[in-house]
Amino acid sequence: CGIVGIIGHEFKLSELIDNLKKLEYRGYDSAGLAVTNGQGLYVSKSVGRIDTLRSVVDVEKTARSGIAHTRWATHGAPNDRNAHPHTDCSGKIAVVHNGIIENYQELKNELIRKGHMFRSETDTEVISHLIEEEFRGNLYQAVLGALKKLKGAFAIAVIHADMPNVMVGARKGSPLVLGCDDKRCILASDVTPIIKYTRDVIFLEDGDIVYIEGNKAKITDINGNVVIRKHTHITWDE
Ligand code: GLU
Repeated sequence: CGIVGIIGHEFKLSELIDNLKKLEYRGYDSAGLAVTNGQGLYVSKSVGRIDTLRSVVDVEKTARSGIAHTRWATHGAPNDRNAHPHTDCSGKIAVVHNGIIENYQELKNELIRKGHMFRSETDTEVISHLIEEEFRGNLYQAVLGALKKLKGAFAIAVIHADMPNVMVGARKGSPLVLGCDDKRCILASDVTPIIKYTRDVIFLEDGDIVYIEGNKAKITDINGNVVIRKHTHITWDE
């Protein structure tokens, strides 16, 4: 279970997969990615190791924002369908998640009653549908609204097909690290995918939500109040 996101500067999908590969030690029953350049989402997933994902992805394709995941299944068998990212009904919102959503079954029942169609057996998929329910044009606000309903542990990263310059992340109980250089921001489960871009990172704390636009990030609490987190300078090598 590892997540990584890149935003702010055009990249090739091979770069996103290379970054994900650094997190493979955290779990590797399946892997997937979702990227956008503002014209729809490109989603690709595969059961197996990250090299299997690499073999099914158009690695030369470029994008402006993207999220990727290596899974260690807790809810739902390891298969292509249950691999992350998970999307909403509109197919515009994509979410990667580490951790466990404890109240997913009751949230799922309620969302199904509201007409949502689920494609996986994961606890994670409720997050994309909850964000869709809350979405009124502002992805950050929609994520805040969705997070208020979640019980459990999570680190998430979220993108929207129409907003290639925006990414939202959040953590509660699972690690999430942020690093921004002069062109881009990287969100990741640990520092290893980040240090080739920058050695100044922020270890997000429980309850933190990060709103990223281009290579600028703002950290808030769940009520939208800005919080200041100190930077840590990483001196060690991989
Ligand atoms: N609970 C989620 C799932 O089973 C996330 C697992 C993980 O952290 O990789 O899909």
